Amino acid sequence: MTLAPNVYDAEPIPEAARAEIDRLLATGDLFRYTAPENAPVALLEREFAKLLGTKYALAVSSCSAALFLSLLGLGLKPGTKVLIPGFTFAAVPSAVIHANCRPVLVEVGQNYRIDLEDFAAKLTDEVGAVIISHMRGHTSDMDAIMALCDAAGVPVVEDAAHSLGTLWNGRNIGTLGRVGCFSFQSYKLINSGEGGILVTDDADLVARAVIMSGAYEHNWAKHIGGSDPALEAAFARWQNKLPLYNLRLSNLSAAIIRAQLPELARRVRDGRANHDYVAEALNSSPWLDVPPPLTPETRAPDSIQFNLVGFADDAEARAFADAAAARGVKVQIFGLSRDNARAFWNWQFIEDLPDLPQTRAMLMRACDVRLPARLTRSELDFVAGALIEAAEDIKGITQAYGT
Ligand SMILES: *Cc1c(COP(=O)(O)O)cnc(C)c1O
Repeated sequence: MTLAPNVYDAEPIPEAARAEIDRLLATGDLFRYTAPENAPVALLEREFAKLLGTKYALAVSSCSAALFLSLLGLGLKPGTKVLIPGFTFAAVPSAVIHANCRPVLVEVGQNYRIDLEDFAAKLTDEVGAVIISHMRGHTSDMDAIMALCDAAGVPVVEDAAHSLGTLWNGRNIGTLGRVGCFSFQSYKLINSGEGGILVTDDADLVARAVIMSGAYEHNWAKHIGGSDPALEAAFARWQNKLPLYNLRLSNLSAAIIRAQLPELARRVRDGRANHDYVAEALNSSPWLDVPPPLTPETRAPDSIQFNLVGFADDAEARAFADAAAARGVKVQIFGLSRDNARAFWNWQFIEDLPDLPQTRAMLMRACDVRLPARLTRSELDFVAGALIEAAEDIKGITQAYGT
């Protein structure tokens, strides 16, 4: 018999990291700007930009820092409105406030993606940027969003914290907007405890972000790969003009991240296969609904989200989560777990926090279950079985057939 799988432990860091970490410990060379060139952080940036197919990458201390620096890199004036989805992690509105801007929340649909009608209505002249959070790796309709934003001349920042490896029309998520941000926090596909990176083709934006991330004096020179007159001009333009926020990544973190890059393709492939296997099982239940991906989207999930169907009240939904827990699988219902950081009504640091009835209704029935790429088929069967049976515990089996 398979026991409930442990879905919280991360994968071990590949052995390949050890030699480099030993070298760093032996030399004490932990700061990205000590070495004249080829520091682990600089190598990571080069490898990551190549992997995603962008001109530039800047590794920083977190995805939150990458979002903050992206907004500063765009040169938004204080008080500028920034559209964000009503369903995301609290770090996103926080980054907007940190950048002295005003978050404007947009409704999200039952499929966890941005409601385009509400988005178009809120994309007014006062909006200086939008952050598209691909929450839990669910990609919003980037064709429609890019068309609207390009027409309005509004830059798009992609929060791809949880979307590394996701494709949209075959292109890497995080490379569709002006700038894309990723996380290396432990619950993401690549784990260095903490860390983040931004990618862009915009020389001016990256030069500003590099300096503000803490490239004091002429350390920005270590960000210039080959001959790049546009980038050099941008650094010259911004020398001594910008504050330094010191959001740098350490060489130790970079060594841990670099060792995992070769694992990425496998994690994406296995994570997607695991997700789709469990999704098909859950969709066989009349009480559970896993929204399908959008047509242009090839996902890279490490968790699964599904909606409870026909659960009339919150008590019934909570009873489902309790029944699943009793069967060994922990379910988070975003809107029903206390002080959840992904429920917009808990972002009370936002002035004039609006209500978003559609997003609220979704959050009250949307379930979240971790599904790491390393799980085996029998562990996936255990998870799917426990969830389906938990729904039947509450709703009954016969009702499923309309009797
Ligand atoms: C994890 C996450 C973040 C924050 O990433 P950090 O690296 O912890 O700052 C932001 N947005 C989304 C969608 C996330 O999943």
